[in-house]
Amino acid sequence: MARKSPARPSSARELLFGDLWEFDPAPESAPAHIEPHYGLFVNGRFVAAKSRRRFDSISPRDKAKLAEISEAMAADVDAAYQAAAKAFKSWSKTPGRDRSKFLFRIARLLQDRAREFAVAETLDGGKPIRESRDFDLPMAAAHFFYHAGWADKLDHVAPGCRLAPLGVIGQVIPWNFPLLMLAWKIAPALATGNTVVIKPAETTSITALKFASILQDAGLPPGVVNIVTGGAETGALVVNHPLAAKIAFTGSTDVGKMIQHSLAGTGKKLSLELGGKAANIVFEDAPLDQAVEGVINGIFFNQGHVCCAGSRLLVQEGVAAEFTARLKRRMASLRVGDPLDKNTDVGAINSLAQLKKIQELVQSGIDEGTEIHQHACQLPKKGFYFPPTLFSGVSMSQRIASEEIFGPVLSILTFRTPDEAIEKANNTRFGLSAGVWTDKGSRILMMASRLKAGVVWANTYHKFDPASPFGGYKESGFGREGGKHGLLEYSQLV
Ligand code: NAD
Repeated sequence: MARKSPARPSSARELLFGDLWEFDPAPESAPAHIEPHYGLFVNGRFVAAKSRRRFDSISPRDKAKLAEISEAMAADVDAAYQAAAKAFKSWSKTPGRDRSKFLFRIARLLQDRAREFAVAETLDGGKPIRESRDFDLPMAAAHFFYHAGWADKLDHVAPGCRLAPLGVIGQVIPWNFPLLMLAWKIAPALATGNTVVIKPAETTSITALKFASILQDAGLPPGVVNIVTGGAETGALVVNHPLAAKIAFTGSTDVGKMIQHSLAGTGKKLSLELGGKAANIVFEDAPLDQAVEGVINGIFFNQGHVCCAGSRLLVQEGVAAEFTARLKRRMASLRVGDPLDKNTDVGAINSLAQLKKIQELVQSGIDEGTEIHQHACQLPKKGFYFPPTLFSGVSMSQRIASEEIFGPVLSILTFRTPDEAIEKANNTRFGLSAGVWTDKGSRILMMASRLKAGVVWANTYHKFDPASPFGGYKESGFGREGGKHGLLEYSQLV
């Protein structure tokens, strides 16, 4: 006798536990060793800011005050440049094999103190401890190791030419990967014999200041690295100081453009690592579950505060409905909340200003009648949080598809043919990164050659390596960080 089978929804193979199971809290307990007040790091030691100005650094996790940070003004920035210029005289003549030893020591010390630094990074910036611990810290150390390897081999970078240092480098970095961006900047500059004045972002200065103690422990000669803190005004002072031979800036496209204007005609070398609005392109023949993981990682890693975040999903029409359904199911399993909890996938938004920017852009999508889907999660009451969000049926003319949101917000668009995918992917003022998901190797190569993006990932996303140059096209900036190309940014060929 035939038995009637129960009605099964298409997603019947899911294991749904509802709220029957809950994770216990798993807070990271290692101390972050944050000082109540930090001075500026100039000429190898901490000094009080001549400006006598200070501002609070608060944790986006719960708005708790973490420390008071000094605000460097003209006399402070000048003292840092003078120290760097003096140190350049001997550092630039230090043999590569000795510079290499310092970089190696810095890398090892970072590894030794990785747990403490990871906690400090999470408290200060809001990113999940799992990411600071497993990504930011190991990658920062890897950049110092990698450049320690290059420092005594610079004669092999450009055959027939020698690499000479430029002088004092002014560096300004953003808040999304505070320690890692510092490593991207300082390691190649030191490996090539330059000295540095660096300014971290105002909301995330703490790991840069803690890093100063690593430089002291490594015995780095005074003045080789100087760390000045402050906001936009301090940044402008660093950029416009006459002793800077080169400016290396990572941050927003708007500020990058201002810097390019102000440096025009000064003869200073410049590299700009700016914003992005990457397309993550999923073809019908892609392994869909793997692609779902890649898309989730592409947009929700570090709360979407990633210049190369895959913030525009382009999915081929035939699988769009199925793919969106799988994406929503996967999104429902993300754990959003306290970044210090080891189970958290999506932590706190870095600052109130950034939270407001995300809210404003999401509202623009809602006002235009776009279908929105948000993770139904309980957000912590204190601190800055935003739920993972999807917009479906988005068109390229909308703000949510063209502006960098820099938050956990994904816009879904569809395409029919590879040509249409390329057209839509390249239809942006940015050009930093892209992702392609397909089973067909020849299609990967074809797409990579036609996408106007500095990095194209295939069947993966957000994979980084110090040996692999990173940088953009168009309004995502110019210059490359990492690899041999990155060394050339800090050198002149002689
Ligand atoms: P931002 O441009 O506001 O600030 C970046 C840094 O510049 C901060 O240290 C800030 O204090 C400083 N600054 C601000 N105004 C300045 C001025 N007039 N002169 C000199 N310095 C000034 O950017 P943000 O909000 O901190 O960072 C987010 C942006 O950074 C996003 O657009 C993101 O895409 C970009 N980013 C790019 C990369 C990359 O590699 N391309 C990496 C990380 C972040």
